[in-house]
Amino acid sequence: MSQNERSNIAVLTSGGDAPGMNAAVRAVVRTALTRGVDVYAIMDGYRGMVEGGDNIRKMGWESVGGILQLGGTVIGTARCDEFRTREGRQKAAYNLIQNDIDRLVVIGGDGSLTGANIFRQEWPDLLSELVDQELINREAVRSHPNLFIVGLVGSIDNDMFGTDMTIGADTALHRITEAIDALSSTAASHNRTFIVEVMGRHCGYLALMAGIATGADWVLIPEDPPQKGDWEDEMCRSLKSGRDVGRQHSIVVIAEGARDRFGKPITSEYTKQVLEERLGEEVRITILGHVQRGGAPSAFDRYLGTVQGYTAVAELLKSKPDQEPQLVGIRQHGVVRSSLVECVAQTQEVARVIQAQDYETALRMRGGSFAESYRIFRTILRSHPNPPKTGERRLRLAIMHAGGLSPGMNTAVRAAVRLGMDKGHTLLAVRRGFHGLIDGDISELGWMSVSGWVSRGGAGLGTSRHIPAGGDFYSIAKNLETHQVDGLLIIGGWVGYQGAYQLFNRRNDYPSFNIPIVCLPATIDNNLPGSELSIGADTALNNIVTNVDKIKQSAVASRRCFVVEVMGRDCGYLALLSGLATGAEKAYLPEEEITLAELQRDVADLIVGFRSGKRLGLMIRNEKAGGLYDTTFMSTLFKQEGSGLFDVRQAILGHIQQGGSPSPFDRIQATRLASQSIEFLLSEVDKPVPAAAAIGLKSSEIQFTSIYDFPRLIEPGFQRAKEQWWLKLRQVAATMDHTSRAE
Ligand code: ADP
Repeated sequence: MSQNERSNIAVLTSGGDAPGMNAAVRAVVRTALTRGVDVYAIMDGYRGMVEGGDNIRKMGWESVGGILQLGGTVIGTARCDEFRTREGRQKAAYNLIQNDIDRLVVIGGDGSLTGANIFRQEWPDLLSELVDQELINREAVRSHPNLFIVGLVGSIDNDMFGTDMTIGADTALHRITEAIDALSSTAASHNRTFIVEVMGRHCGYLALMAGIATGADWVLIPEDPPQKGDWEDEMCRSLKSGRDVGRQHSIVVIAEGARDRFGKPITSEYTKQVLEERLGEEVRITILGHVQRGGAPSAFDRYLGTVQGYTAVAELLKSKPDQEPQLVGIRQHGVVRSSLVECVAQTQEVARVIQAQDYETALRMRGGSFAESYRIFRTILRSHPNPPKTGERRLRLAIMHAGGLSPGMNTAVRAAVRLGMDKGHTLLAVRRGFHGLIDGDISELGWMSVSGWVSRGGAGLGTSRHIPAGGDFYSIAKNLETHQVDGLLIIGGWVGYQGAYQLFNRRNDYPSFNIPIVCLPATIDNNLPGSELSIGADTALNNIVTNVDKIKQSAVASRRCFVVEVMGRDCGYLALLSGLATGAEKAYLPEEEITLAELQRDVADLIVGFRSGKRLGLMIRNEKAGGLYDTTFMSTLFKQEGSGLFDVRQAILGHIQQGGSPSPFDRIQATRLASQSIEFLLSEVDKPVPAAAAIGLKSSEIQFTSIYDFPRLIEPGFQRAKEQWWLKLRQVAATMDHTSRAE
């Protein structure tokens, strides 16, 4: 029999714990079981592997039930010096062979993955030595000639090559952002300066992204130590000019690995001293420490852990004898695989380059969007715009919203205003969506008018669902002329795209429509063509996940099934992704037909589940899925057919989903997209036929799609894009849910 058909899989978490590791463990276990492979969890990382015995536990479907929403790692993690020695690894090999395991999913940082690779390289020799010592027989060597490894990166630092995001980094950003938002309000009340120290020994990701997400006033990171002779002076001057224009508080974010250009660490204590002495301010230090690792994983980390765990098992099952160890990572939202050895080497190279004080290379090695984000951050934090360059035209750029409310709209406006003004242009606010454009509700925005907008939910400029028609176009044309608008940024959803398309189509009738237009996707529905994600969807997903976690807790006392209705209109993104992130049995999507027969099958599955001891059922329904078979109908059907075995409750989450402060991801992406939108308007404005386009995110890159193509890219009769990348996740969801379980 070949190796792949009989050996077992094991999963371990190692190094520092990270929220989302549990989602990965759950996905590994359930995917393996669905594929008919026995799967083991190794407790406490390599220590459990070296010690063996009860530390290597066979897992069943229910062993990983109810862990998705837990922080940390339920299978434990530990540092293990013995595994760094050959004797230790020999013991580990022996313990794996005892359990017929030769396929490993290792979830950890670069140290853990380095260890895994050394172990794999030594495997054949370790087994020979075990045979020589008569601890195992030759048959064991024959049936396990190779050790296969897939690595997933669990680390809050986001410091690894081969993946845009490591498991845990998004949750850590949530914790940091919540903390800085909270500090900002107390700091403002006392006119204080706060220094916030965040994790990141070699990587400034958390510090920089938290800086962008919270509108912090200064950041200090390992990759780019202040270059000027007296960086202290530069920092103080910037903070002081912020105070001079009315900022009530200042926040400085320091990565724990921050240093000056001579490699000397910049400590929080030293920075405090500098600020107190030079600015005469009261300064407080908050070291966030382990809080950053803690708490329930964010929706994204649950998603990340789940898809990566699922992919890791698929990779292991198709491994060939000469297979190099793989690292499963993520680019934007797509799973990618690369050579583990290569990724570890590159990661360690950045640390080395920083150590050698070659900061330029370090910044470049972090990848395009890191450097871009850093540049954007440095511009936005200024308290005054740069004056316009002499001889350059001062353009008038208008900003408006259109469509439903989406968290992150304010963040995008703030970034666009600051970046546009910094280039010497005038920014105009159009209020209440297209109504404002029709009524001439247009006025100039000042630099400080968007102060504090980075974290504010809602839409300061107002929005509406009105799409221009008939006589509206004449009024719009007149107002664009009156206000001499040179370019238009529409931050919104479907209505914005439709409106932009209408204006674009009437360029021959109204010359003032012949201006560059850019639509920035901002809708919780995530239904727009030209972007894999829209601003607001991540916040909505987190709102759903947090509330469903609470709803689930309320069911501990009795056997209960919840039918939870979520938003999304014609697009099932929120339903499917929240289903994945909450461990729902089923997500009903508007993209799929729902028949009575299917609902009957689902209730039959629920009955089987509850009869065999299950205490909680969770079905998530998109608001339009199933048409007349609405949430009440489904709940009633399940209740009636459940014949008293379980109780059924419905929960319609409603506008909670659109509310609240935007998530760090939405704030960061809103800032990036707004920055590029302004660049786009500026680059098109002098062309004879300026483009009208939608900006979007695709595989981590920012791309533009002509608004002319809008009708071609949408599904006729529905408010959704034809191409929806996330639909392929249905397979992952089906593997995780109870209805397809292998047991
Ligand atoms: P991380 O994986 O988060 O980088 P560590 O560097 O502490 O964390 O590594 C976690 C564990 O991985 C170590 O305690 C050790 O057991 C194992 N490990 C790390 N580096 C090696 C190595 N070079 N050789 C063997 N094992 C290693």
